[in-house]
Amino acid sequence: MEQELQIYIDGKYYPKSQAKVSVYDHGLLYGDGVFEGIRAYSGIVFKLKEHVARLYESAHTMLLEIPLTREQMVQAVIETMRKNKMKDSYIRLVVTRGIGDLGLDPRKCSKATVIIITDTIKLHDGVAKTKGITTLVSWVRRNPIDGASHEVKSLNYLNSIMAKIEANISGVDEAICLTPTGYVAEGVGENIFLIKDGQVFTPPTSTGALSGITSKVVVKLAENLGYKTIVANLTLFQLFNADELFFTGTAAEIVPIREVNGRQIADGSAGPVTKKLMTEFQKVTRDPTQGVAVD
Ligand code: PMP
Repeated sequence: MEQELQIYIDGKYYPKSQAKVSVYDHGLLYGDGVFEGIRAYSGIVFKLKEHVARLYESAHTMLLEIPLTREQMVQAVIETMRKNKMKDSYIRLVVTRGIGDLGLDPRKCSKATVIIITDTIKLHDGVAKTKGITTLVSWVRRNPIDGASHEVKSLNYLNSIMAKIEANISGVDEAICLTPTGYVAEGVGENIFLIKDGQVFTPPTSTGALSGITSKVVVKLAENLGYKTIVANLTLFQLFNADELFFTGTAAEIVPIREVNGRQIADGSAGPVTKKLMTEFQKVTRDPTQGVAVD
């Protein structure tokens, strides 16, 4: 019989069916926690150190003390991969404030809970990758620079979920969210790129987009192909009239967008720059120098 997936919780391993946290955990009660989504390709955990660094920055911002050093966290991820004999995986790293009482005061939580899940994920089918996906611009705005700033990868994903619900009930694949002042920000779990007249654009991370690790990789890949990415406020007008549009994200990787609120983007299929970037992305994710090896 195949062994059940083993989940890391606070240094111990539990089979998936028994991997549980307390109902008094403030991650559940208040969304008080941080997380990362990471991918491993052919035994290389892609940009693992960068993801761990972002996790610790999110945690530091909310004064959440993680009971492991960054290096110990990297090792715990690798060990969980090994334990599950996984080479290709979607890894979810979660740190919650831990077990407290029913009040929201984090001082009642004596120790953070650390969870590592090495599973798989599928957002879009193969056709989406070649044909592109349909999107709608949601009425749900990204969080402003405030307690639940969009910069912190916290367990508060309600506005992403609200936007995703809008996409679902409208029968499109994904939602695009705006910044509080109405510029294009990002998807519900992806950054967005626009190509117009041979130039690559992406919105700034200061106004509504998460500082995406995939997006940083794509900026480098674009540079190698001779495109310098311009970080700028983008309007819906620019979005509707783009030559190419695509999302980037750990789970999504690179996904072309072929429609926004009923407006077809260019000829309605993945554009040439997007395709080139997808090919380069495939290569870089298999490059051992771009991550941490499982063994
Ligand atoms: N924006 C949001 C809101 C996200 O949740 C994610 C996924 N972590 C991204 C962008 C893409 O970031 P990354 O490329 O680091 O996965």
